[in-house]
Amino acid sequence: MDPYQDAAELLARSKMAVGFTGAGISAESGIDTFRDPGGVWDRFDMSEVGTADGLLNTITRHPEKVLGFIKSTVETFESALPHAGHLALRDLEQMGILKCVITQNIDDLHSQAGNTDVIELHGNLYRARCISCDKKEKLERDGVLGRARQVIEQEDFNPLKLAGVFPKCSCGGLTRPDVVMFGEAVQGMERAYHISDACDLMIILGTSGVVYPAAVLPHEARKSGTKIIEINPTENSFSEITDVFIQAKAGEGLPEVVSRVRKIVGK
Ligand code: NAD
Repeated sequence: MDPYQDAAELLARSKMAVGFTGAGISAESGIDTFRDPGGVWDRFDMSEVGTADGLLNTITRHPEKVLGFIKSTVETFESALPHAGHLALRDLEQMGILKCVITQNIDDLHSQAGNTDVIELHGNLYRARCISCDKKEKLERDGVLGRARQVIEQEDFNPLKLAGVFPKCSCGGLTRPDVVMFGEAVQGMERAYHISDACDLMIILGTSGVVYPAAVLPHEARKSGTKIIEINPTENSFSEITDVFIQAKAGEGLPEVVSRVRKIVGK
């Protein structure tokens, strides 16, 4: 039994494959996951920075904690680039096999890698959302990070200046990052359900499968007979429905699978 070959053959036969990704696929780009040892929730208190109310409360009462969180986020995202695993998903799209990526990540790395249909269930850090009219606008990554860096480098850090990182909406309203915080509604779920129902293969990368409602999607896919491949270095999060499990990092396992798909389909 060779799970790499099994996965490659399933992909080569697929008419409509979909990627389902979580924080783990970006770990090799230098972005910590939430739940792995040393991950984000080992270093920061979720109730202080993970919810909209908690964050506002922390900004008011403990601005130094917000400074640590924003500094760490800016430094991480400044150096984060798509790696071989993201690029392998892009290659699968270009080969006509992968139709869509459904991601829980907010880091934009699938789009930066070149995937053209990405459902971002938890939003995108580089998109502004108007608090008044709900209009959304994609911003330049370097502009967002540059403005955030200016605020955190000022000697007398004033967290209220972070509001200027995201420019005002054309309606005059204030905007915020279009990311889904704990307790807020996910985005694009209806389409993600539909695509999970319709696909014949789902490849799961880098998710612990504990964040709902996103975690229902592989189960939804399975109900309609979809084959499931999972790549994860430490756990098989969807073991009860997985056809092929590859115990590997996304950036090592997926490129190996894709090079075997190329040999099968001759592209
Ligand atoms: P999680 O932190 O709960 O689980 C991460 C999973 O990735 C684990 O199963 C781990 O074994 C696996 N993993 C670790 N390194 C890997 C690698 N190199 N290759 C493949 N898999 C690897 O992540 P989750 O399930 O996505 O849920 C956490 C939530 O956190 C999500 O909702 C997501 O929005 C958010 N989040 C996003 C980012 C990001 O945008 N990059 C980063 C941290 C958290």
